[in-house]
Amino acid sequence: MKRLITVLGSTGSIGVNTLDVIRAHPDRFQVAALTAGKQVDRLAEQCIEFKPAIAVVSEASDAVRLEKLLLENNIKTQVLYGPQALVTAVTDSGCDTVMAAIVGAAGLVPTLAAAKAGKRVLLANKEALVMSGNLFMQAMKDGGGELLPIDSEHNAIFQCLPNEFTKAPHSNHGVEELWLTASGGPFRNTPLDQLASITPDQACAHPNWVMGRKISVDSATMMNKGLEVIEAFWLFGLPLEKIKVLIHPQSVVHSMVRYRDGSVLAQLGQPDMRTPIAYGLAWPERIEAGVAPLNLTQLASLHFSEPELARFPCLALAFAAAKAGGTAPTVLNAANEVAVAAFLGAGLPYLQIPAVVEKTLNAIALTNADSLEDILSMDAQARKVAREFIQVLQK
Ligand code: NDP
Repeated sequence: MKRLITVLGSTGSIGVNTLDVIRAHPDRFQVAALTAGKQVDRLAEQCIEFKPAIAVVSEASDAVRLEKLLLENNIKTQVLYGPQALVTAVTDSGCDTVMAAIVGAAGLVPTLAAAKAGKRVLLANKEALVMSGNLFMQAMKDGGGELLPIDSEHNAIFQCLPNEFTKAPHSNHGVEELWLTASGGPFRNTPLDQLASITPDQACAHPNWVMGRKISVDSATMMNKGLEVIEAFWLFGLPLEKIKVLIHPQSVVHSMVRYRDGSVLAQLGQPDMRTPIAYGLAWPERIEAGVAPLNLTQLASLHFSEPELARFPCLALAFAAAKAGGTAPTVLNAANEVAVAAFLGAGLPYLQIPAVVEKTLNAIALTNADSLEDILSMDAQARKVAREFIQVLQK
């Protein structure tokens, strides 16, 4: 039987790579729904090719334009718009699998809906898990679906763990530590006094991966790795002290698991997201992903080192928020999203990103993250505070 797939964020980097894998396996996969934010033309092309039951955009005016484009091509996809329609694309499209690839907090509600509805959730949208870890993992448990990490590091760790581990992480599987690798981004060796003048295009020019702009900036500041530490904490259920970060500039070893008996298991591959995407789509089978084979003899060497926290203050802030727990990761994530958007679009200096996040974390009284309402209200409050700090900085 074919898997029926909803791709949340189909017009983004992960979304396009997901459709690339789906395109190569028409016997296995069929698209149930596609959702975008603003890229109407790209979504129209995807709908013409994959003929989903439902397509979603953010704004009503874009929905009208999309409907017109589809009508001209005789495509009978139902066009919807707005945040609630993202949930409809999950619950009413007949899908059994959801690729959660909307960037940022906007992905939380539909991803949570997929968890509750018992879908196979392919989780790329790490921000959703960072914001709502406990709630999300409980929703997955209640819904009874499968959760497969798509972030390359977590996918690597998933591949290196025994199958039973994710069902009972605290049982005796002999796992001592998880080692998340990080490329160190484009500024790993940049003299610290040059960081102040970094531009958005420089920050988005990742040495190894081609990704959306927000995650590219997060990779440069290493907030991305901080979010991934929190993501690993929730996904794999190990104490924070057992989750380590290693700088590995070649991005060939995607992450590792250290076992009690001295073994370290690693997953290696090209830095190409189609590998973890194909793994998640076909799990437990393995299928052709269109990725070039890895040739170890062509690699000069593989390096590993500890990250410098002075160079990457965002990583230190994420560790601190993870330790504080409750809504601290929600605040961290919200402030970071606002600061990165201001850096990309409104001239906030690069080095002010960690400053805005830290000030926001210090300014807000943290609470427990017990309900979706608590989380969304904390997210809104943190965004407001972060925007106020940015306004003051830019006066
Ligand atoms: P992109 O920016 O390339 O794509 C984001 C997608 O989300 C687009 O389809 C965009 O639509 C959509 N979107 C953005 N805002 C909204 C909104 N408010 N409502 C509805 N849809 C929205 O991001 P990436 O593909 O790079 O990343 C997606 C997620 O995957 C992120 O959480 C990221 O951290 C994670 N990830 C990405 C990796 C990568 O290699 N790219 C690797 C590992 C994880 P549109 O463009 O039409 O506006």
